[in-house]
Amino acid sequence: SPTQAAAVRDAFLSFFRDRHGHRLVPSASVRPRGDPSLLFVNAGMNQFKPIFLGTVDPRSEMAGFRRVANSQKCVRAGGRHSDLEDVGRDLSHHTFFEMLGNWAFGGEYFKEEACSMAWELLTQVYGIPEDQLWVSYFGGDPKAGLGPDLESRDIWLNLGVPASRVLSFGPEENFWEMGDTGPCGPCTEIHYDLAGGAGAPQLVELWNLVFMQHNREADGSLQPLPQRHVDTGMGLERLVAVLQGRRSTYDTDLFSPLLDAIHQGCGAPPYSGRVGAADEGRTDTAYRVVADHIRTLSVCIADGVSPGMSGAPLVLRRILRRAVRFSTEVLRAPPGFLGSLVPAVVETLIASLVSEDEAAFLASLQRGRRVIERTLKRLGPSDVFPAEVAWSLSLSGNLGLPLDLVELMLEEKGVPLDTAGLERLAQEEAQHRTLQAEPVQEQGLRLDVHALGELQRRGVPPTDDSPKYSYSL
Ligand code: ATP
Ligand code: MG
Ligand code: MG
Ligand code: MG
Repeated sequence: SPTQAAAVRDAFLSFFRDRHGHRLVPSASVRPRGDPSLLFVNAGMNQFKPIFLGTVDPRSEMAGFRRVANSQKCVRAGGRHSDLEDVGRDLSHHTFFEMLGNWAFGGEYFKEEACSMAWELLTQVYGIPEDQLWVSYFGGDPKAGLGPDLESRDIWLNLGVPASRVLSFGPEENFWEMGDTGPCGPCTEIHYDLAGGAGAPQLVELWNLVFMQHNREADGSLQPLPQRHVDTGMGLERLVAVLQGRRSTYDTDLFSPLLDAIHQGCGAPPYSGRVGAADEGRTDTAYRVVADHIRTLSVCIADGVSPGMSGAPLVLRRILRRAVRFSTEVLRAPPGFLGSLVPAVVETLIASLVSEDEAAFLASLQRGRRVIERTLKRLGPSDVFPAEVAWSLSLSGNLGLPLDLVELMLEEKGVPLDTAGLERLAQEEAQHRTLQAEPVQEQGLRLDVHALGELQRRGVPPTDDSPKYSYSL
């Protein structure tokens, strides 16, 4: 099961896309679009608010959304869900984090499917031991005239969670609201026991499954939504910490490079993960604050919110000033230190945002370019690029550089590819091999039919000799 942050994120998205037919949508900007009730985007559901309220433009793409999943950039600083004051003090709250989520709109599916998908992903795909998972459900709110959500309780019991680990809480914990106004509903949550399932549990909240049914109006009243929806959110940083066997989100590949960069840049003793009274001199707290805040600043500025005088910009200015305070006064950082951390943020976020496949291909691309350049040096002014080289670059056992990319790269150099030679090679290959898609599917690999068609169009026959080969298509 995956542990590196990029692989964990990928596994979440492909689980919902491939196993449960969800459409993947990109993260929205952290700057809310046309929603004055928010300072920053604070949850994955924000961009879908018009769907919940039933105000979505029927001609928009969103109007067709039924099952979707994504990873959303979230900022919780200021407003209802602000965690600004807690950052640095604990090992699980950030002002910027990524929220993994799945949605079912208009009753596409509801509580039972949402809970069983979440359970399947955590226990089967990520391999988290069941006895380290606890769940909670909404115990009701008599003042608001809301009864307990016994349906969710029973769903968990049916999924095999023992009653001793199914707890109920009131509206503070298990009734989720986006802001002072907006969509809301009872929720059921999955928590992870850091104590390893033995002795007194130490729980960290992992995943929230919200059943959107109401809208909180400006006068404080609850109105029913036109339809019911599933809205879930799980913190990527916390999930990665669990899967990397860490108690702290800071001890993961999402933060370690950043903590190293802070250490390099300010000469304070290295980060050692102490909290509370144990963190004498508050060095580790300062490390966490600075690492957190520089991520938030970088992401917000990239999304078009800069430190300023009011609203979200003012919050950002406060964040910047806290980071300056902690880095200079606690970590004894030199002037210009904060700015020098930005490349490390870009690196950690890119390393994690770029999928593993993309990262792997980048290396192939660079090597392919070097091979092409070396080959070009040997060519005379009127030579064509040798088919054998292009062909071998395209083999998955080598670099898996698609022929159309090789052609493009050569086009830029003004050198034609020996297409006749390529065709000859292809025919030779065809004498030995024929296409059979089944063995590929049996290996659990998907055939890229589009690329296959493209190759056939070019007269390059696909082969079935190794699953790897087909995979790289
Ligand atoms: P907590 O009780 O830990 O503050 P929450 O109940 O405020 O979390 P939700 O609004 O339910 O969080 O958000 C869904 C998920 O997002 C949480 O279960 C958690 O995994 C993650 N999450 C929430 N706040 C943060 C944060 N400040 N930093 C990192 N992850 C977070
Ligand atoms: Mg919270
Ligand atoms: Mg909570
Ligand atoms: Mg919660």
